[in-house]
Amino acid sequence: MKKILLFALAAILFNCNGSAQKKETKKDSFPITKTEAEWKAELTKMEYYVLREAGTERAFSSPLNKKYEKGVYHCAACDTPLFKSEHKFDSGTGWPSFDKEIEGNVAFTTDYEIGYARTEEHCATCGGHLGHLFNDGPKATTGKRHCINGVALKFVPENNTKDE
Ligand SMILES: [Zn+2]
Repeated sequence: MKKILLFALAAILFNCNGSAQKKETKKDSFPITKTEAEWKAELTKMEYYVLREAGTERAFSSPLNKKYEKGVYHCAACDTPLFKSEHKFDSGTGWPSFDKEIEGNVAFTTDYEIGYARTEEHCATCGGHLGHLFNDGPKATTGKRHCINGVALKFVPENNTKDE
């Protein structure tokens, strides 16, 4: 009887491991893949925490939060253009907010990290975590609020991005 219990327990443990590993392999299906050590070497501590560990920067901490110059916001890890300044708005949340992404360059998944389903946003090229998508954005445009960590973005002013 004891043996059966142990076996059942082992099965449960292995199951947990199995699903954890599945989550990891999902990240490898992006066009740019690097080992965690490679990312760690390339990114700052804060960039690594947000982009690779799905962390969140402190509200109002990003210099990009109040930036409204014309330009394009690129992925801080792989330089893929993700958001345009014309879609940026002041949400008052303390994080750079956009009502629309550059289509095809942002990937969406669902996470349950805080107990309910949220749409998580990733760079579609390197899989880097960007932030979350909410449905309380400006009604006049898309109604969407892309709540993005400024540390995951790199701002490129318009005169440098004429060919985009
Ligand atoms: Zn990227």
